[in-house]
Amino acid sequence: MLQIYNTLTRQKEYFRPIHEGHVGIYVCGPTVYGDAHLGHARPAITFDLLYRYLLHLGYKVRYVRNITDVGHLEHDADEGEDKIAKKARLEQLEPMEVVQYYTNRYHRDMAALNVLPPTIEPHASGHIIEQINFVQKILDKGYAYISNGSVYMDVEKYAQDFPYGKLSGRNLEEIKTETRELDGQDEKKHSYDFALWKKASPEHIMHWPSPWSEGFPGWHMECSTMGTKYLGEEFDIHGGGLDLMFPHHEAEIAQSCAALGHDSVHYWMHNNMITIAGKKMGKSYNNFITLEQFFKGEHELLSKPFSPMTIRFFILMAHYRSTVDFSSEALEAAEKGLARLTEAYNRLTKLQPGDKTTVELSSLRQLCEEAMEDDLNSPIVISHLFDSARAINTVFDGKATISSADLDELRDVWKTFVVDILGLQMEENAAANGTQDAYKGAIDLLLNIRLAAKQNKDWATSDKIRNELTALGFTVKDTKDGFEWSL
Ligand code: ZN
Repeated sequence: MLQIYNTLTRQKEYFRPIHEGHVGIYVCGPTVYGDAHLGHARPAITFDLLYRYLLHLGYKVRYVRNITDVGHLEHDADEGEDKIAKKARLEQLEPMEVVQYYTNRYHRDMAALNVLPPTIEPHASGHIIEQINFVQKILDKGYAYISNGSVYMDVEKYAQDFPYGKLSGRNLEEIKTETRELDGQDEKKHSYDFALWKKASPEHIMHWPSPWSEGFPGWHMECSTMGTKYLGEEFDIHGGGLDLMFPHHEAEIAQSCAALGHDSVHYWMHNNMITIAGKKMGKSYNNFITLEQFFKGEHELLSKPFSPMTIRFFILMAHYRSTVDFSSEALEAAEKGLARLTEAYNRLTKLQPGDKTTVELSSLRQLCEEAMEDDLNSPIVISHLFDSARAINTVFDGKATISSADLDELRDVWKTFVVDILGLQMEENAAANGTQDAYKGAIDLLLNIRLAAKQNKDWATSDKIRNELTALGFTVKDTKDGFEWSL
């Protein structure tokens, strides 16, 4: 039975869905004002693994992953320019052009990583009325106040009735000591109060009418609103990166409890962060590497291009709750590991069954299932697959045999875990490798014809092959054993 680590209770729990056979998942999606980078790939792949595994278990899954296109301010709190509006101003575009452009590119990158699309992908800007209604409910319950056209969560009032900070393990006293005191000029009563609705300043271009002001919703409001709209007032799983736990998810809990009187989420799941050469990814380090840069090899920290499947495999090689440190060397190691699995997968499709099984076969299906049930332990699944790859290679090399029934089972387990659950595109990888092999073979063939022509003193044919390959961009070098070539 599946166990998942619940950030809220800080322990692994058996997963029991609210409605039998159905699972509702909400995952915080991207704020679409720039290209997706490695930090976006990790939550997308982590929750894709969860989604794929739940589908494998036979659940009907409603998977909601939002697009943040309004209300995410520069300082992630209640201050600064809207990130999308700023990009629109700098690029002289409509904000919705920025949103569409980066949403399209996000979808393209996710498809490359073989991340399945969510079943619902709601935009914050498409749910303004619902957000206004949600804010009104919190006001009606007395946990928010209006100040100069903006609406703020009254955290102190809330904390008298509910445990504020329970997800991140903080309490209000600690939070108070961490935050600066207000000078009395601020709209907010306390610095730790957060905006549910913000009155738009004159230069703010994205705004909507509300009972309180012409303005826009606070960033945390969209997830409470869209999560409960599509999954119900209580739903199974809420996921996101660890960096969102505070204040974003803590605020979501407060909003739900304040409006509805109870939590909305049964299991909170958080993927850990990726560091780059030991450093956090951040503007100040200039180490944001976009996925497109990985795929093209266009960044000073990259030794070469890395395929989307290598990135996916690299992320799955670590458990989602552990930190991952990126380096070019680590990616090269992942690439080699993936090549070994791909080779074994190809060999598995070609193996001929023998009369009986003489190779040592572990109970691969059970081992992989146990690993997945243990809080989605993908690195353990991968290590079992490597063990299995060794067995496959032994049979392939003719040192052992495998029966027809065992071969069918092995093929099915590999297809289930490698392709369906880990989401690694083996066929396409194999096809790409096959194309490479065929291409190399064709060039070798041409150069062997040229070698024979030279030995027959047929200079016309020899020169024609050499010149035309050179014109196509190949470098051909004669050596004492024959030839060498490169592109
Ligand atoms: Zn969110």
